[in-house]
Amino acid sequence: MSRIAYVNGRYLPQREAAVNIEDRGYQFGDGVYEVVQVSAGRLIDEGLHLARLERSLGEIAIPMPLSRRALGQVFLELMRRNRVRDGLIYMQVTRGVARREHAFPNPRPKPAVVMTIRHLAEFPHDVDAWATTAITRPDERWQRCDIKSVNLLPNVLAKEAAHRAGATEAILVDAAGMVTEGASSSVWVVDRKGTLATRSLDHAILPGCTRAALIGLMAEAGITWREQSVAGAELETAREIFITSASSFVKPVVRLDGRPVGDGEVGPLTRALFSLFSHHVLGAARNAPA
Ligand code: PLP
Repeated sequence: MSRIAYVNGRYLPQREAAVNIEDRGYQFGDGVYEVVQVSAGRLIDEGLHLARLERSLGEIAIPMPLSRRALGQVFLELMRRNRVRDGLIYMQVTRGVARREHAFPNPRPKPAVVMTIRHLAEFPHDVDAWATTAITRPDERWQRCDIKSVNLLPNVLAKEAAHRAGATEAILVDAAGMVTEGASSSVWVVDRKGTLATRSLDHAILPGCTRAALIGLMAEAGITWREQSVAGAELETAREIFITSASSFVKPVVRLDGRPVGDGEVGPLTRALFSLFSHHVLGAARNAPA
């Protein structure tokens, strides 16, 4: 079955789908994106992702191309047309097509929207098998990482360095020596005293939707955590490290820079939070209409 993409109002076979070469996303990286997870036929944290999309667009003065409700309808249509029950939806919104000038075009073009979907394996049941490895890298990105911009070159280079080192994620450390986030994830650390921390939201990190959902679940479950910066050096003595994102959920990091994190096994807090998050994802799926 050929995959179907959504391009500016039309559903097209993906191999025929194309954007204009003067699209500002292609010319300047002038756009933002979102990634939404689909599990057992249900969109996970859809509201959080659409709210973040609207915020990212607002920060760079691109209007919402469609209402949140209409975007949600496109998600469902893509799932239906591609018969995806477990997968990921990618959505890019750019400032649109215009003659190449750096400043915003006048008159304003219509924002361009592209969406694709791909299959993923079902939600992981075995947290030990789900564990991964990471390296640390200097954070070489710009000063507005809170905007989910399509400019991902530093993230691409950091991920490539991780892959070359036989790891899957790069944990980024800023010029002051503090952890910001992963190349494509939020980072959480349990320090040697057992305190769970993740960096507070500022312009240096993306406000992760999985992070936000997990914070809500922890509040309900009475699990305490701190919003506080962690020094890169503290990663060496951390008991547990895990990352969160729409595609990795709660993912233990059991080796960092080639050395075991803690005892090199999935730690108890990460295990508990993985379980909490799996109830969130699978519980939502159970409540989904057939
Ligand atoms: N930080 C960065 C740089 C990311 O690219 C991502 C996800 O792609 C995240 C954090 C996690 O965000 P979310 O949980 O919304 O997927």
